[in-house]
Amino acid sequence: MENRPDRRTPAAATAVPAVRTAVGRAADVEVRRSARRRRTVTAYREHGRTVVLIPAAFSAAEERRWVDQMVAKLQTREERRKRTLASDDDLMARARELSAAHLDGQAVPASVRWVENQNRRWGSCTPADRTIRLSGRLRGMPEFVVDYVLVHELAHLLEPTHNAHFWSLVHAYPRAERALGFLEGVEHGRGEAGQADDDELEPGTLA
Ligand SMILES: [Zn+2]
Repeated sequence: MENRPDRRTPAAATAVPAVRTAVGRAADVEVRRSARRRRTVTAYREHGRTVVLIPAAFSAAEERRWVDQMVAKLQTREERRKRTLASDDDLMARARELSAAHLDGQAVPASVRWVENQNRRWGSCTPADRTIRLSGRLRGMPEFVVDYVLVHELAHLLEPTHNAHFWSLVHAYPRAERALGFLEGVEHGRGEAGQADDDELEPGTLA
């Protein structure tokens, strides 16, 4: 998420003291100053922390103001996302939309649901009964990433293996490459710890 300080008034920052926790200390926010950054402020989540990139020339007051505002914006965006894809019904509705938009409506799942027992895989699909599951770890990730995993699993309803045909289906979703890059970055950040808890998959299930 980006903002240009010279174009926006940070009205929300004064109303919402977002970086203060209930006990009054600053939340886990890391501010990185960049000499090359002149006008833009960027904020994102990284390993449970919030990273805010600001121009090196910002004063302490500007830093505080912009950190407050960007953290509030991230929270608003995440809460909105949680609401929009909160339930399995929401996921199913989104899957239908994505299938219609990118797969000519050919991929028709019987069910799409959130699961909390997939720690290593982002999603899985059982073509035999046309069921799709998404890891709860995707909650709170950008919408285009969740959409990518849905498209990936939907494509498995049409093509079980990761062959060239499969990837041509997946790349009908325009942000596939960007989402793959995002997920690779998350995997990389998890390091070795993520490899230990391999998921049990039923026979006939694809990831
Ligand atoms: Zn796959």
